[in-house]
Amino acid sequence: MSEEGLSNLLHEERTFPPSEEFAAAANGRSELYEQASADREAFWADQARKFVSWENDFDQVLDWSDAPFAKWFVGGTLNACVNAVDRHVEAGNGDRVAIHFVGEPGDTRDITYAELHQQVQKAANALADLGVGKGDTVAIYLPMIPEAVVAMLACARLGAPHSVVFGGFSAEALHSRIDDAGAKVVITADGGWRRGKPGALKPAVDAALAVGDSPVEKVLVVRRTEQEVEWNDDRDLWWHEQLEQAADTHEAEAFDAEHPLFILYTSGTTGKPKGIFHATGGYVVQTAYTSSVVHDIHPESDVYWCTADIGWVTGHSYIVYGPMTLGATQVMYEGTPDTPHQGRFWEIVQDKKVTVLYTAPTAIRTFMKWGKEIPAKFDLSSLRLLGSVGEPINPEAWMWYREVIGGDRCPIVDTWWQTETGAIMISPLPGVTPTRPGSAQHAIPGISAAVVDDMGQPVEKGSGGYLVLTEPWPSMLRGIWGDPQRYKDTYWSRFENVYFAGDGAKLDEDGNIWVLGRVDDVMNVSGHRMSTSEIESALVSHPKVAEAAVVGAADETTGQAICAFVILREEAVQEADDAGEGSDLVAELRNHVAKEIGPIAKPRQIMIVPELPKTRSGKIMRRLLKDVAEHREVGDVTTLADSSVMNAISAGLNKGD
Ligand code: ATP
Ligand code: MG
Repeated sequence: MSEEGLSNLLHEERTFPPSEEFAAAANGRSELYEQASADREAFWADQARKFVSWENDFDQVLDWSDAPFAKWFVGGTLNACVNAVDRHVEAGNGDRVAIHFVGEPGDTRDITYAELHQQVQKAANALADLGVGKGDTVAIYLPMIPEAVVAMLACARLGAPHSVVFGGFSAEALHSRIDDAGAKVVITADGGWRRGKPGALKPAVDAALAVGDSPVEKVLVVRRTEQEVEWNDDRDLWWHEQLEQAADTHEAEAFDAEHPLFILYTSGTTGKPKGIFHATGGYVVQTAYTSSVVHDIHPESDVYWCTADIGWVTGHSYIVYGPMTLGATQVMYEGTPDTPHQGRFWEIVQDKKVTVLYTAPTAIRTFMKWGKEIPAKFDLSSLRLLGSVGEPINPEAWMWYREVIGGDRCPIVDTWWQTETGAIMISPLPGVTPTRPGSAQHAIPGISAAVVDDMGQPVEKGSGGYLVLTEPWPSMLRGIWGDPQRYKDTYWSRFENVYFAGDGAKLDEDGNIWVLGRVDDVMNVSGHRMSTSEIESALVSHPKVAEAAVVGAADETTGQAICAFVILREEAVQEADDAGEGSDLVAELRNHVAKEIGPIAKPRQIMIVPELPKTRSGKIMRRLLKDVAEHREVGDVTTLADSSVMNAISAGLNKGD
């Protein structure tokens, strides 16, 4: 990244020091930075022994001799399911609620650790009865119901890597993931509840398995919606029947720290999804450690809620492995935030007295769009910490989250990480770091990150470049499933000996890291490098805008031209309709960006749209918008949450032309 790097457009100066109460409770946390930099490996060995129960202790912390293929906690053996469940029961906490489940139609189930223990043993036995053992892969295609957690943990118990596929994905996406992972068994459901209706899942599995020579031998079907399902007697089995028949107790075996725990495909925001695989030991260590030091979960008193889907890495690390390894109590919600009303999330926070909430900027911007009167109707005083993950959070969305949801009292942790990193890498520490709206700030203790220029040299404060990780970390991916070369090429070849994350970032004058989104999304307008997220943040700072996506479209004169797609806040939509003032508003927004950033950042085109194309994990798929802006046929939409969105956008634009 030459010239002045990713420009110098962010000048956020608001800062929020930790409250006295939080600072006092953060006992010793600030010392973790020093401990980690004094001796990284000793630091990780300490965390590994503090947060995880090992069957055999490890004798080497890190083996990096075959870099970039790492081995962590060499010689150690453990069982991830025993760490997440059995040991809490053994420690006398079996009566603690593990999951407060809230179904979309309003059904609820509270599952204690003791009950979870019974279920994972039965499920492990049921899978073993079908011939699933160490090293066999199992595909999981379920809605957000407790059986998804049970299924994942049962696989872990057997040493059978799971491959969870979003319940919202099509048969085609499911088919390619099943084949790529060579899954022997699929665990699915008749369906799940979404937007007040039962959505079917089983037909997608049937269709996925009808193509070609499938590796799948058996399909286990959880009954959730009680829809009619087609049945293949040779292949399909009801989950509840198999569990009923299975033996009650299951002796868990300890596996090597490097034994694969799961495969998970990335969101596909930038291209074809990659099958990322994670090993057991390092992953469990770092997810548990970060659940403790970043989310500050106190298992004896907190009610934690991560709103991610289980099919996304956030669901793996921060619903299943991290919080459960700590023995936390959490909420799990099946449905959408607007069913049956737009206050559903806040009603759940109020009813379950949620203390720690972890969600995504896309959700926060949606709540902004709906208006602050909605959360205001509920008692959110139980909340004490808020987290964000998935995309850069615009400073205005951050402030809204802090003020409207957090009552100006809760610290926000903006956590940067990836499917590949397995766990949180960059984030403020609650009680320690004075926070800065919109910035993920610093690598957490034990992690080394840097922002570098084209030559791999660290940039000066105030400049931008590429985000890299300069040391291996315990929960790092161990590779791309079946493709070691692609692993080296994608992450380890751009710069020597460092991990290239693919994200652009900027260091501010105080040394805070600002993640600016994908390097692929950086635009070059008349020789000026600009990040999409900066222009989006400027648009979102306008009171009428709820959400914005910016892309650079090829332009004959400027190289690239800025095209913005904008969703208005609810009350602004009404006003614009009443006044018929669409074009005035566009001019106002263009000027607003010019004022906030500079005339060079003024979008060539601003399109007001009803929705933006997003992945199921809520990320904006800019590459599809780029196709629209460049008048191309839109590319691969298989990971899109709602494929009709693209039609709605195209239709709206053609009408407007
Ligand atoms: P693909 O790699 O297939 O394109 P993806 O990168 O969207 O998909 P994930 O692994 O789910 O799949 O997302 C990781 C990416 O999300 C990061 O590389 C970064 O771009 C973005 N991200 C996550 N958290 C943050 C954050 N707190 N701030 C800024 N960006 C974030
Ligand atoms: Mg990625």
